[in-house]
Amino acid sequence: MAKKSTAKPDRPTPVFEYAPAPESREIGRLKPSYQIFVDGAFRDGSGEAVKTINPADEQPLAEVSEAGPADVDDAVRAARRAHTEVWGPMAGRDRAKYLFRIARAIQERARELAVLESLDNGKPIKESRDVDVPTAAAHFFYYAGWADKLGYAGFGPNPRSIGVAGQVIPWNFPLLMAAWKIAPALAAGNTVVLKPAETTPLTALTLAEIIAEADVPAGVVNIVAGGPAIGQALVEHNGIDKIAFTGSTEVGKLIQRSAAGTGKRLSLELGGKAANIVFEDAPLDQAVEGIVNGIFFNQGHVCCAGSRLLVQESIADEVVAALERRLTTLRLGDPLDKNTDIGAINSAAQLARIHEMADTGTAEGAERWSPPCELPARGFWFPPTVFTGVSQASRIAREEIFGPVLSVLTFRTPGEAVEKANNTPYGLSAGIWTEKGSRILWMANQLRAGVVWANTFNRFDPASPFGGYKESGFGREGGRHGLEAYLG
Ligand code: NAD
Repeated sequence: MAKKSTAKPDRPTPVFEYAPAPESREIGRLKPSYQIFVDGAFRDGSGEAVKTINPADEQPLAEVSEAGPADVDDAVRAARRAHTEVWGPMAGRDRAKYLFRIARAIQERARELAVLESLDNGKPIKESRDVDVPTAAAHFFYYAGWADKLGYAGFGPNPRSIGVAGQVIPWNFPLLMAAWKIAPALAAGNTVVLKPAETTPLTALTLAEIIAEADVPAGVVNIVAGGPAIGQALVEHNGIDKIAFTGSTEVGKLIQRSAAGTGKRLSLELGGKAANIVFEDAPLDQAVEGIVNGIFFNQGHVCCAGSRLLVQESIADEVVAALERRLTTLRLGDPLDKNTDIGAINSAAQLARIHEMADTGTAEGAERWSPPCELPARGFWFPPTVFTGVSQASRIAREEIFGPVLSVLTFRTPGEAVEKANNTPYGLSAGIWTEKGSRILWMANQLRAGVVWANTFNRFDPASPFGGYKESGFGREGGRHGLEAYLG
C-alpha cells in the first residue's frame, strides 16, 4: 500500500521570515582584470578583453583578457615541453606532492573561491561553499593518492601518460569541472591546456594562481580564457594527444567529427534528461526533497539533473501536492545570501532558452505551475517551474532545458517506468525511490544511464565514476575509471 507523507496537507505550511545573511563580496578578492596563464606566467591574451558580468544584477565584475589562436599555440607548445622534460618523467610520488599542495590551497582559499564562483556564475553561496569548492579540493586530494599507485589501478603494471590534454569545460560548475579535468590528467603524468567557459572564467584563472603558488613546473597547466573559437582552436590543434570535453551534445558531436581519424583520444561528457523515478512505497518526504535537489539544485544547470519526474500513478497527486508545498518554501534571490536556495540563471542566452522551452511546454498542452515568487528587477531569473500532464512526445520531456523546470510523467508498473526512463537519446543519470532493495537492483540493471542513484540524487564523490551512455557521451571521470582516460 502507498505510504502516506507525514506532512499534513490540511495544515498550512508555516512561513518563516529570514533576515538577510549576505556573505561579503570582499571575500571574493575580485580583481579589476584577469589574464590567461601560459607556460607558468600570467599574460594578456591576443584575443579581446571582455567583461564578465554578475548574472544576478548584470553588472560587470572584471575584465578578462581572452586568448587568441597564437596563445593556444604557445600553451600547447609549453605543455608539450613540460610533458617531455619534466612532468612525464617525474616520479608519481613527486607529482602527488604538487596535487596535495593544490588541494590544500583550494581549502585554504575556499571562502574566496566560493564567493567568486557565486558572483561569476549566479549559484547560491551555500552550494558553491558546500558542494563546488569542497568537491574540487576532494578531487585533487583523491587523485594525488593515485599518482604513485598507477601500476595498481588495473591498467597494467606500468601505465604511461598520454601527453598533452586539451580540455574544454562549461559554465555550470566552473571550478569543479576544472578540477575534474586537471586532477586525473596531472596524476597520470599528462600536461594540460584548459579552456573555461566564456561566461565563467574567474575561478579557473584563480586556480591558475593557486597552481603557480604551488610551484607546479611551468607549462604543466595552462589556462586560456576565450569563447567557442578558442575551444575549437584547442581541440583541433595538432599538438594535443587527448581531448576532454564537457558541454552540450551538439558541440560534442562537432568535436567528435573533427577528431575522427586524427588519432587523438577523446572523452565526452555531454547533456542529459534524467528520469527521477518514484515508486508508491518510497519514503515520500525524502523523495520530495530528492526531487527538489534533483532539478532545482544549481537552478537546474546540471547535466545529470532529474528533469523528468516519473511518479507511480497511485501517488502522483499526493507527490505533486507535496512538491508544490515544498517549492513555496524555497527562497530565490541574492546568490551571496546564505539563505538563498535558487540563484540566478547564468546568462541572458540561457534564460531565453529556458523561456522558449517553458513556452513550448504550455503550447503543447502541459499544465504549468510555479510558486508565488518575486523575481529581482535586474539580472537573469526564472522561477522554479513544474509541468504536469506532460506526454512523452513533448519537447519538454525529450530535450534538455538546463534550467529549473521539471516535467512530471506517470507510470503504473516497474517495466513501464524503465521503458519511459530509457525513452530518451540521453543516458547520463537516473534516480530510483523505493524501499525495496531488490527493485533498486533490478531497475539499476535495466536503466541505460551512467549513474543511478537510489533514494538520493545529485551526490558526487571523487571516488565514484561519472559519465554517460548514448548521446550523453563516453568515457568516465572520477574514481579509478577516471584515470583510464589519461593513461596510454
Ligand atoms: P557548450 O557546448 O555550448 O559549451 C561548452 C564549452 O565548449 C564552452 O567552454 C564553450 O566555449 C566551448 N565550445 C563551444 N563551441 C565549441 C567548439 N565548436 N569547439 C570547442 N569548444 C567549443 O555547452 P554549455 O551551454 O556551456 O554547457 C551546457 C551543456 O553542458 C549542457 O548540455 C550540459 O548538460 C553539459 N554538461 C555536461 C556535463 C557532464 O558531465 N556530462 C557536465 C556539465 C555540463
